[in-house]
Amino acid sequence: MNLVVLPGDGIGPEVTAGAVAVLQRVAQSHRIPLEVTEDLVGGASIEAHGSSLRPETIQRCKRADAILFGAVGSPRWDDTNPDPKLRPGTAILGLRRALGLYANLRPVRVEPALIEASSVKADRIEGVDLMVVRELTGGLYFSKPKRRYESARGKAAVDTMRYSAAEVERVARKAFELARTRRRRLCSVDKANALETSRLWREVVTAMAASYPEVAVTHMLVDSFAMQLVRQPADYDVVVTENLFGDILTDEASVLAGSLGMLPSASLAEGRFGLYEPIHGSAPDIAGKGIANPIGAILSAAMLLRHSAGRDDAAAEIEGAVSRTLERGLRTADIAAGGRSVETQEMTEAVLGALA
Ligand code: NAD
Ligand code: MN
Repeated sequence: MNLVVLPGDGIGPEVTAGAVAVLQRVAQSHRIPLEVTEDLVGGASIEAHGSSLRPETIQRCKRADAILFGAVGSPRWDDTNPDPKLRPGTAILGLRRALGLYANLRPVRVEPALIEASSVKADRIEGVDLMVVRELTGGLYFSKPKRRYESARGKAAVDTMRYSAAEVERVARKAFELARTRRRRLCSVDKANALETSRLWREVVTAMAASYPEVAVTHMLVDSFAMQLVRQPADYDVVVTENLFGDILTDEASVLAGSLGMLPSASLAEGRFGLYEPIHGSAPDIAGKGIANPIGAILSAAMLLRHSAGRDDAAAEIEGAVSRTLERGLRTADIAAGGRSVETQEMTEAVLGALA
């Protein structure tokens, strides 16, 4: 398969290097043909080319089978700049749009070895195995009107939350299909008591439930779900929600796993194409120190093999190697709880060593 790697900024290149090394090793042992090319995005691309996402980068991604993405965001290039070309964040938002990546899968599993690393009590997070499916190309982040303006009473701004029934249906379908292969429970999270888009969302999901009689569907309001997520997280299986709610809830859910640095994600279009990235950002506070946790990126490579290459066996091998490495006691600083920690490179090498 033809893979484009976009390391991006900050710790992006540090963690993607490890993910690519693991991916290449597993692809080789499983005889998965893999051709890797790299390109710049975000602040790195602004510095080299004057734009955070070039049209030729988008074209290259469109020709690929999958994208492995690091993170974008640089203290040198402010994401509030009025020129979108000079905002690093435009790169990831632009790619999601251009590549039609409407479903973002964020699995949250709690590694038994890390139960103590979480700030949530151990008895609450035992057995947590969530799959959050976040809508990725609609809602407040994309709908128009979206602008600043002068009103009679001074400065004002507007963002718009819009969803069509078709947009809700295609992301909900991914969630139903996933629920079918898991514990067959689906919780749809919305704010139907306050938002018109949420009432439409709930209506569409409810209508679809009839076609998936084997999946038990529940609906929850987002504020109440935010609370349940730390009170009884093991009660949930697949969760489907709109863009902004999903963004916030998955950062919250990362607390269960011990660190933002642990969690992978897959952003899927129709078919097998996908973009895979750790859920964390460029972490400027630790960038360049070589201490970032590469596991979120490495597990993103596993998701790539599962979804874009259709190779569950190869994906499971990476996941197993990560679990064994953690069981051996290796910890990067973010999950070490003040104890002994290793650097990015050593963690990566340990995972490589733990592969079958
Ligand atoms: P962040 O995820 O970069 O960092 C939050 C905290 O978690 C920091 O203390 C960081 O050190 C820590 N952290 C994150 N990943 C880690 C890892 N792998 N190992 C160890 N510690 C880790 O979020 P932020 O600080 O809000 O944002 C920093 C920049 O990243 C901003 O420019 C933001 O816009 C960008 N960002 C990009 C993406 C993306 O590219 N998809 C996502 C989120 C944020
Ligand atoms: Mn986020």
